[in-house]
Amino acid sequence: MTTYLLPCACSAEVAVTAGQAGGRVECRQCGRELAVPKLGDLSRLRRQDAAPRPHGVAWRPAQAVVFLGAIASAAALLASLWIGPRATGVLDERSLRTAVRAVDDLTAYRVWSEGLSRVGVRRPPADEELALLRQTRFADGIRGGLHLVAACGALAVVAAGLRLALAAKPPRTSATPGR
Ligand SMILES: [Zn+2]
Repeated sequence: MTTYLLPCACSAEVAVTAGQAGGRVECRQCGRELAVPKLGDLSRLRRQDAAPRPHGVAWRPAQAVVFLGAIASAAALLASLWIGPRATGVLDERSLRTAVRAVDDLTAYRVWSEGLSRVGVRRPPADEELALLRQTRFADGIRGGLHLVAACGALAVVAAGLRLALAAKPPRTSATPGR
């Protein structure tokens, strides 16, 4: 089937076929809706096979967003995997609270009183524990940021993908054969 190039005001060219004559198409570059000439006037347009496109395939913004969003999301997820899962068992208040909530009161009390008899009530944290705690918090922050980036990337992919899917609806072709 012969493909004709319909010029747009944004200097892009939209490929149209005879089946779309008399209908409307959306410019892939700027999103303008363009009227496709009637069948008899189509042949005045430049044919697509007449000359190769000067500079590659122009990406629609939504396609670029899908691509970049996917890359950013995947990269952030990989980076957060590389950091590793959240450290457990570190003497950090949140982990301790979670661990205490996970056991029943009697066990918690027993462990607590055994711990008291062993280490005393108040014990300043050792330097290694402080360093470990700092490292853990730092890694938590980085991991949180990466997860945020991954989530934003995924959202962008979904949003742009939806936009592309909506734009991909078949163009309305008013079936009015020229002659
Ligand atoms: Zn355009």
